[in-house]
Amino acid sequence: MRWTDELDTALRRATQAVEAGARLIEWRIDALAEEPDALAAIKALVRRCPAPCIVTCRVCGEGGDYGGTESHRAEIFEALVRGDHPPRYIDIELAAYQRDTRLRRTISAALKDGERARDTHTSLILSVHDFDRRPADLLQRIEAMTNEPACSVIKVAWQARSLRDNLEALDLLAQRAKPMIALCMGRFGLMSRVLAPKFGGLLTYATDRPTETTAPGQPTIDELQNVYRFQRIGPPTKVYGVIGWPVEHSLGPSIHNAGFEAVEHAGAYLPMAIPPQYEHFKATVGAMLDHQHLGFRGASVTSPHKEHLLRFVADRGGRIDPLAERIGAANTLVVNDEGFIECFNTDAPAAQEALCAGMGIERSALAGLRVAVLGAGGVARAIVADLSHDGAEVTVFNRTQDRAEALANEFNGREAASGRRTKVVAAKADAIAGDRFDVFINCTPMGMAGGPAPDESPLPDDVPLDENVTVFDTVYTPQRTPLIHQAEAHGARTISGLDMFLRQAAMQFEHWTGRDAPTEAFAAALKNQ
Ligand code: NAP
Repeated sequence: MRWTDELDTALRRATQAVEAGARLIEWRIDALAEEPDALAAIKALVRRCPAPCIVTCRVCGEGGDYGGTESHRAEIFEALVRGDHPPRYIDIELAAYQRDTRLRRTISAALKDGERARDTHTSLILSVHDFDRRPADLLQRIEAMTNEPACSVIKVAWQARSLRDNLEALDLLAQRAKPMIALCMGRFGLMSRVLAPKFGGLLTYATDRPTETTAPGQPTIDELQNVYRFQRIGPPTKVYGVIGWPVEHSLGPSIHNAGFEAVEHAGAYLPMAIPPQYEHFKATVGAMLDHQHLGFRGASVTSPHKEHLLRFVADRGGRIDPLAERIGAANTLVVNDEGFIECFNTDAPAAQEALCAGMGIERSALAGLRVAVLGAGGVARAIVADLSHDGAEVTVFNRTQDRAEALANEFNGREAASGRRTKVVAAKADAIAGDRFDVFINCTPMGMAGGPAPDESPLPDDVPLDENVTVFDTVYTPQRTPLIHQAEAHGARTISGLDMFLRQAAMQFEHWTGRDAPTEAFAAALKNQ
């Protein structure tokens, strides 16, 4: 392909990016800069760009591909800055700028001349990148950029090792002495990218193609605009999220941010990955709560942290809702404006409502139902605790028999709502076909897209299913799982995990905002997935 064709393609992508909401285009000329006729091509990119632009020629070692000489790079930048159509910004690494006197002199003289000569001139971004960790001398480097007269914008980007790195990036923005970009890279870094405007950050980077990010963890323009509502984020924005490990595929950000938009709630809901151990949970959630300006107001808490949430709220002297206490796990953290914390379990009431609505019965009719629960993890626990309390006779089946027995023993013989004793037993997984149940509830990830057994049903073929039986699959991706197909083939009544998911999310939304959840907005957001 000739470079003029490539130029047209690049400009078309820039135009699409601007149409999608980008206000500034970054041209990464790392590879182009070493081609013959590079300067003419780069000038054309800048001149024809549909928005103001940053020109970056990133060297190998700071995440780029440029392997040419500093003098060639300086010549290109000088020609751009002194040209008829100067870019809005050029970006040069602080290390190179400090090291190379000729580069520094050439660029600072060109910038000064440009500033004198015209109203629209180029400004210099000096930048620091570390793809492993927070640089030990980060603050000294920021000071060096602050003290460099030619530097108009300070940029720092480093690989976050935990969510807590974001808090430092956001603090740096808040304390900036010059316009600043402070970003964390990698799976933990999204918070710094999305919340930058809340703390006065100059800009954030997004890609037009998920496969072509210029740094790890960069969101797409579409995600930034349409999921995280970047244009709405500012100082009053309150922060929410989904805490788990992993959380990257959660539907929470799509539906809760759509809900905030629908009721005009100034909130941003983000994925918050926290490694499995309680110490990580405690340190990270504690740091977010203690941060004076973050405005952390709540979270959905998912596997493996539901029991940690209960312990954490107890440790910090918060309030545990009685239902969460009874279940021994919570999935919702609520933080009020004074910083007081509470936790709730919305899985259990959501599952119960979904079951009653699907069967067309009142809650009181759960008493005496024979329910088979498949799985003994967090969701099984909430459902076993709640249905047995309402008088259902529950049998737990699990791959690991010991866990099924432990769960049954924990909830059997407690005082039920009626004043009688709860009935919960465990049975061997291969005995499931030998008994008759009114309801089967899948609480394993079997049948879940991307899970350990996406094509398998948790129920063997010989389990008796007919129109008198209800099959409830808590798995919600996909909506029609192998279990749902199996149940339909036998004429059984089916309930999708999506129903439970939407109900538990609606209850969380109501705890955080005090408003009825806009369920239509939730459903529309899911459709767009
Ligand atoms: P969890 O605590 O990790 O428990 C998973 C359970 O599934 C364990 O009992 C485990 O058995 C069993 N299991 C895992 N892989 C299995 C396999 N390949 N074959 C058979 N059994 C297997 O998870 P959780 O938080 O309870 O979540 C379970 C599922 O519920 C999730 O996959 C999700 O789809 C669904 N869910 C739905 C909603 C909703 O709102 N609809 C909310 C949360 C979760 P062992 O004890 O032998 O390890």
